Amino acid sequence: MEEVIPGIFLIKEKSGFERIKPSENIYIIAGPDGLIFDAGFGNKKVIKFLIKEINKIEQKYRDNNKDFKITQILVSHGHPDHFAGLKRIKNSLGVKIILTEKTADIIKNKKSFMKSFNSDSYEDYLIIQKGFRYRIRSFLEKLMFSFFFKRIYGLSFIAKPDEIIKDNTEISINGETWKVFPSPGHAIDHISLYNEEKGVLLSGDNVLSKTTWLGPPNCNIGDYIESIETIQKLPNLKIILAAHGALINNPRERTIEILEHRKERTQQVLDIVKEFTENGTSPDEIIQKLYSNKKKMRTEIARGWVCLTLKMLEEQNVIKRIEGKKEIKFYTPNKL
Ligand SMILES: [Zn+2]
Repeated sequence: MEEVIPGIFLIKEKSGFERIKPSENIYIIAGPDGLIFDAGFGNKKVIKFLIKEINKIEQKYRDNNKDFKITQILVSHGHPDHFAGLKRIKNSLGVKIILTEKTADIIKNKKSFMKSFNSDSYEDYLIIQKGFRYRIRSFLEKLMFSFFFKRIYGLSFIAKPDEIIKDNTEISINGETWKVFPSPGHAIDHISLYNEEKGVLLSGDNVLSKTTWLGPPNCNIGDYIESIETIQKLPNLKIILAAHGALINNPRERTIEILEHRKERTQQVLDIVKEFTENGTSPDEIIQKLYSNKKKMRTEIARGWVCLTLKMLEEQNVIKRIEGKKEIKFYTPNKL
């Protein structure tokens, strides 16, 4: 653990499988009525490590004659690397689990969680279902997902949290007021936690030093852009404590960079659609053009943001679709 700001500690949970399961940053806002932000992984070993690190913080506080008690835990959104540890952390520390209604609904049981993760390929990934083979594939994928989350993340669900809060509210941590506000886009239920006096934002997966993953079914690029703009306008924002990777010491520059990157990506997709426009272009063709020399796994991940971008452009009436027997194709109407 490391005290990143006076009174706020970072505990890094290493995953060992960086590519499929990135390391997680857990923040402890320490004091007499402290809070854990994001629950991280739920595997026994990881929880043991987390408790050990929290005990070290407690010792540090005791040595300095300061009160220390962690009483509450809040998660940024219902993705497995952020909530999997909730149950075991509660059992070990007796903390109160605080969730927004949207997150509580996603993580209440396996069925609800899988629904938020598994998508209907036809509309979400813009793939036309191809009969029996498609159904077998989708069944196997579901099985794999289920196994993967349980074993790799140590997932368990929260049937009923101790407290449900609004996604736009204030909470008290160590007697200080922190603002909770909705920041959807990467996930529909995403919230952020802000203390204006300190200028500290805990932003979950919204603002990372690397590009945040965006893909169906629970993401929306338009919402994501709006959330980044909201964060950019926060008065007195000095530092962003990100859920993965490095802390963001230059929030203004980083948020400008993120918005520019999204603009660039949208333009790239639109340019390809315009180029192909006479017969329309499919998401597969766009991905091939964008990632011509990249590996299959990389292009499969990219399908998420490409499809979301196409749908955003469609909503804005910039492009239109033609649904064929095998593919969905897009074109720019004003060019035809
Ligand atoms: Zn996430």
